[in-house]
Amino acid sequence: ATPTSIMAGSGRAAELGILFKGGEHLEQTYQIDTIVIDKTGTITNGKPELTDVFVVEGMSERLFLSFLGSIERKSEHPLAQAIVQGISKRRIEMRDVREFEAIPGYGVKGIVNQKEVVVGTRKLIEQYNIDSFAVVSLMERLESEGKTVILASIDGQFAGLVAVADTVKESSKKAIERLHKMKMDVIMMTGDNERTAQAIARQVGITRIIAEVLPEEKTAQIKKLQGMGKKVAMVGDGINDAPALAVANIGMAIGTGTDVAMETADITLIRGDLNSIADAIIMSHKTMRNIK
Ligand code: ADP
Ligand code: MG
Repeated sequence: ATPTSIMAGSGRAAELGILFKGGEHLEQTYQIDTIVIDKTGTITNGKPELTDVFVVEGMSERLFLSFLGSIERKSEHPLAQAIVQGISKRRIEMRDVREFEAIPGYGVKGIVNQKEVVVGTRKLIEQYNIDSFAVVSLMERLESEGKTVILASIDGQFAGLVAVADTVKESSKKAIERLHKMKMDVIMMTGDNERTAQAIARQVGITRIIAEVLPEEKTAQIKKLQGMGKKVAMVGDGINDAPALAVANIGMAIGTGTDVAMETADITLIRGDLNSIADAIIMSHKTMRNIK
């Protein structure tokens, strides 16, 4: 495209809150045929809330929440913040934590009151040979409601679980519908479990999901699609998404997300609204048409 048509296109896009980092990105975006979208904070509002608490028989709920909150206070994960907020509201006192460790894609652990506390996914708990069989059906019910379930063990014994719910952005369903009408392949990619991911995907009309993806596996998933000849746009907001944003043909960061995502992406969508994905593609089409 000519410098003039790129300037005009970038200007019009900027008015819609779509910031192309360079002219070449405005020229390339129209080629996209596959859109991979992160779940939390991108399709959803990313403001999870603590909704359910369950403890095993003989366990005090307040003690359980005190241990859980103390550990999660050390984590920067959005789920951790939701849990800490929910627990603080109940005026439960936190304790000191030693040997805190984050296990990306799985959870966190540490020592509270000389007891080892492990918090996270079922896979993580199982890695410590802790039996959570008694809560499988409860877990499945919560997950099919679109909630994320976080399990906890204290001193090698399963102690209880909490569930956290995030809401879908009001605009997401319509935005996905537009992309489908444009014949785009739309895929949701998340580190969250399969059942929760399915429940959220169903709410916005997405049928293809890649769930339980570890942070370091996200780029491999993009490369796999590219290996099949796809021109892939990745849309995300988190630190976890940055490598995938870099590898994708076009990386789109949500303006309400982390700085790292915006620094890495080719396009920043200032409004959190996913309608900007279709708008960016249309802008690119128009710019390229103007030059012919
Ligand atoms: P996402 O792709 O949604 O950002 P992550 O890879 O960060 O997901 O995390 C995947 C899963 O690991 C979460 O859904 C959660 O079950 C678990 N997890 C990660 N961090 C924590 C934490 N601080 N506390 C509890 N669970 C966690
Ligand atoms: Mg996210």
